[in-house]
Amino acid sequence: MQLTVWTYEGPPHIGAMRVAASMRDVHCVLHAPQGDTYADLLFTMIARSAKRPPVTYTTFQARDLGGDTAELVRKTLQDTVQRFKPRALLVGEACTAELIQDQPGAMAEGMGFDIPVVPLELPAFTRKENWGASETFFSLVRALLRGHKPAERPAMTGRRPRANLLGPTMLGFRCRDDVTEVTRLLASVGVDVNVVAPAGAAPEDLLRLPEADFNVCLYPEVAYSTCAWLERMFQQPTVKTVPIGVGASRDFLLEVGQVAGIDPAPAIAAAQTRLPWYSRSVDSTYLTGKRVFIFGDATHVIAAARVATEELGFEVVGLGSYSREFARELRAAAEGYGVEALITDDYLQVEARVLELAPELVLGTQMERHIAKRAGIPCAVISAPVHVQDFPARYAPQMGFEGANVIFDTWVHPLMMGLEEHLITMFREDIEFNDEAAPSHLGPAARQGGAQTRAEPAADDDAEGAGADDAIIWDSDAEKELRKIPFFVRGKARRNTERFARERGVATITVETLYDAKAHFGR
Ligand code: SF4
Repeated sequence: MQLTVWTYEGPPHIGAMRVAASMRDVHCVLHAPQGDTYADLLFTMIARSAKRPPVTYTTFQARDLGGDTAELVRKTLQDTVQRFKPRALLVGEACTAELIQDQPGAMAEGMGFDIPVVPLELPAFTRKENWGASETFFSLVRALLRGHKPAERPAMTGRRPRANLLGPTMLGFRCRDDVTEVTRLLASVGVDVNVVAPAGAAPEDLLRLPEADFNVCLYPEVAYSTCAWLERMFQQPTVKTVPIGVGASRDFLLEVGQVAGIDPAPAIAAAQTRLPWYSRSVDSTYLTGKRVFIFGDATHVIAAARVATEELGFEVVGLGSYSREFARELRAAAEGYGVEALITDDYLQVEARVLELAPELVLGTQMERHIAKRAGIPCAVISAPVHVQDFPARYAPQMGFEGANVIFDTWVHPLMMGLEEHLITMFREDIEFNDEAAPSHLGPAARQGGAQTRAEPAADDDAEGAGADDAIIWDSDAEKELRKIPFFVRGKARRNTERFARERGVATITVETLYDAKAHFGR
C-alpha cells in the first residue's frame, strides 16, 4: 500500500485508451467496473476532443460479480464490433477487472471476428500509463505486421528519403504541434513523412510503416519499444535525438542527415529561431546562473536540462523524473550536471527536494506548479501530466526551432524581470518596492509570507535533517544581515550558513558566522 494524493500517471489502461483515441478505425474494449468512464473526460475536457474516445466498457456492477461477468464481456465485444465496425480491436482490463481474471483478450481472440484482435496485458498494479501506451502501440504494430514481408525498400539515392514519426498520442504534452514542427524540420532537409503514429494513423497506415527508410522516435516513453522492434524486423534505423531546444534540433538534423545520407548543413544554417539572440541580448544577462529544478517525464526533463544550461545559462541544481523505465538515462544526464537524479512518483519527495534546494525556478508538471506556488517559487510547465491550459488553441510546439521560441517565452515569463530584481534590491527598505512585496503572479503564498517563506524553508524543515534538538538560532543582527541578501538567493544563504554552523557545532549564528560561511562557500 502507498498513501497517494496525487499521481503523475494514470493506470496502464489509460495509456491504451490514449493510443486508441489517437488513431482512426481502432476501437478498444475495456473490462472495467461501472464508473471507469471517468477517463472519457480526459479526452473530451482536457484534450478538448470533439468526440468521445473509441472505448467501450463492460461497466460491471457489484451485483454482476455474483453472476457471469465473462458473459458480459462476450456480449460487449460482440455488440461493439457490430456497432462500431472497427478495423482493429484492442481488448484490455482496468485494475478491478484484472482481479476477476475473465481473460477478455483471449475470449475476443476466440470469437472469430474478421478483424485483427489485439489482447492487451496491462499489469495495473505494477505499471503505469506511459508503459500502457507503449505496450499497446507495440502490441498493435506487432500484431498487424507479424509475418509481413515488405517489398524491398529501394535505395535512397535519387529520391527523397521517407521517415515515420512515432510516439505522438492524445494527452501527450504538445504532441499536436510538435508533429507539425518536426515535419517541417524533416522537409527542410528533403525528407518526407511516411506515417505518423499512433496520432492520426489507421490500421492500414501501420501496415505501411516498413516502407519508411527510418523511424523518428519522438517520444521514447511511448515509441521506444516499437522503434526497437521495427529496427530488428525491418532494419529501419531509429533517429533518437529528441529535437527540443536549438542545439538538440540541430543535432536531430545532423542525425537525420547521417541516417538518410544527406547534408543538413544548409538547412541548419538557414534555420530561423530567435532563442539564441534573445538569450544573448543584454536583457537576458540576469538569467545567467539562475538555479533551476527540473521534474517531469524523462524525455522532457533531459531536453529541458540541456536547454537550461546550454541555451539560457541557468544552473541545474536538481533534476528528476517519474519515468522509472528511463531511470538509467536520467541518472546519466544528472551526473553530467553534478547532481543526483530523483526517480520517484511521490510528489511529497519532489516537494521536499524543491524546498531543500530552494531553486529560483522550477520547470515541471502540473504538480510542480502547485508545489512551486505553495513555496512562492516561479514555475513553468514542461511535461505531462498537465491541465487543460496546456492544450492551448494557439500553435505552441516544444520541438524544433519554433519550439525553442515558445520555450524561451514560457520559461522566462514567470521570472521576475531584471529591472524588478534590481529595484527590489536597491530599495529594500522602501514601503512599496521592498522585497516582501512579491510579484502578484506568484500567488498568495508569496504575498502573505513575503520573501521569507519563499524558497526558504524553516531550519527544522530542512531535508538535511536539522531536528528540533539541533535547531540553530540566529541572533537578531545576523537575521537582519541575512535579510539584506536578495530573497531569491536568501534561502540558499540561510541553509548554507546553518550547515556551516552545524558542522562546526555553532549553536547561535552571528554576523561573523554568516560571513565566515559566505567566505567558506565562496571559495
Ligand atoms: S478499475 Fe482502476 S481506474 Fe478504474 S476505478 Fe478502479 S482503480 Fe480506478
